[in-house]
Amino acid sequence: MYEFAVTPAITQLRRPGVLIADVAPEGLARELELAAGDRVVRVNGRAVRDYLDFRFQTAGETELELTVKKPNGETWELEIEREEGEDFGIEFEQIVPRQCANECIFCFCKGNPLDARPSLFVRDEDIRLSFLYGNYTTLSSITPDEMNRIIEQRLSPQYVSVHATDLKTRAYLLGVDEKRADISDKIQRLLDNDIEIHAQIVLCPTINDGAILQKTVRDLAAQFPKIISAAIVPLGLTRYNTDERLTKVTPEFCRQIISEIEPLQKEFRKILGVTFAFLGDEIYLKAGLPIPTRRHYGNYPQIEDGVGMVRSFLNSFERLLKKLERHRLLNESKSFALADGFFAENTRTHQLAIVPKYKKPNAENAKLNSLNGTILTGEMFAPVLREQIERVNSLIGSRLKVLAVPNTYFGGDVAVAGLLTGQDFLRVKNKIVGDFAIIPKHTIKSDEPILLDEMKFEELKAQFDVPIYDLDLQGLMQKIMNYEIR
Ligand code: SF4
Repeated sequence: MYEFAVTPAITQLRRPGVLIADVAPEGLARELELAAGDRVVRVNGRAVRDYLDFRFQTAGETELELTVKKPNGETWELEIEREEGEDFGIEFEQIVPRQCANECIFCFCKGNPLDARPSLFVRDEDIRLSFLYGNYTTLSSITPDEMNRIIEQRLSPQYVSVHATDLKTRAYLLGVDEKRADISDKIQRLLDNDIEIHAQIVLCPTINDGAILQKTVRDLAAQFPKIISAAIVPLGLTRYNTDERLTKVTPEFCRQIISEIEPLQKEFRKILGVTFAFLGDEIYLKAGLPIPTRRHYGNYPQIEDGVGMVRSFLNSFERLLKKLERHRLLNESKSFALADGFFAENTRTHQLAIVPKYKKPNAENAKLNSLNGTILTGEMFAPVLREQIERVNSLIGSRLKVLAVPNTYFGGDVAVAGLLTGQDFLRVKNKIVGDFAIIPKHTIKSDEPILLDEMKFEELKAQFDVPIYDLDLQGLMQKIMNYEIR
């Protein structure tokens, strides 16, 4: 729901064509003397609105006519012949997201502090970003042009926030009238044209749970395999969401939902061969119940929506532990070989005395033992991570500690790692132990080193006494394997 990386779009004017942001030092665009600042406005006579259009209209074409507007006002008409598959070597401007026309009662924008960064108030609802990055749209204000574009350009799959197939409930949740909320024809048209859909249900206790949830899940599953999956993710309330219509998601509610959805999942696995309706990881964590197995998630169709991330992490961590174990044994055996030489006489004559009392220190294992630092994460994931890190510690002798960081910036029941801010990290500064600290990589903006509360990463680093690394879980595991953290 939070699109942290979007560019604030409100003040930008739409200009024709797509802007060239950069041109590779070698390649077709350079040969054609195209440069950053040029706008490609037409390809083969057809208007270009963004880089998706450019990609679509140039795909597979070896003879092309480009109309390019130069910053000095000149218009260039270029006739091009290129090898099949030859790349232009152009980097285009980012897509400026289209805004939604809903008033969802749970909208994340209503949960922001008033002084939050402007991009947190961007209500993007864009079928292009849905296709490119898996952002959800409600389809409620999609235009006929956009519908045609999805179909013509095969922008599949689309990620659609359904929330409820009961029209009254959907309209209520979206804060729009039933006519606008009704997307049944649009969905049908997409499915009829073989556009695949991943659906999302933001679960709001007392509004779209119970019988409404059962109906929604069944209605969606009836369209499998064109509707590939449905993610059921819990409503998240910050301390700024004070809407009385919203009810907090509690551990009891989560346990109730799991018990209601599990039989459906079993039924789907039997009939459809897949789980189809997935509950967000947060629901299991909050319920205090085990995360389902790898098999439950299949090919993790909704991992970007926080569905199956914990399982994927646990499984990757299991592999890491096995590698570390092999690594340690290998190093020990090297150490053993050295020691063997030392005790050569003894080992030859007294086979039972082969275990040396003294193990010559091994440089490799010593490096692993020296890992001593603090891993900061959200309160929700901390117990899971702590358990795994403790296994690493007992295996390799490292002294890594997991620290659960309360989210005071958003407050409420926000406990996920990705919404931690610079201020939150600073508040736990005194609890950092060891030689370094690690914060979750996705708390830093992807295209600029700043955090959600606009604190610069450099500023944060300067206020800590130890180096801070921003790592994702994969990076963390890699660092442990390569003992690269210092
Ligand atoms: S669709 Fe709803 S939740 Fe998403 S941005 Fe618009 S109002 Fe907010």
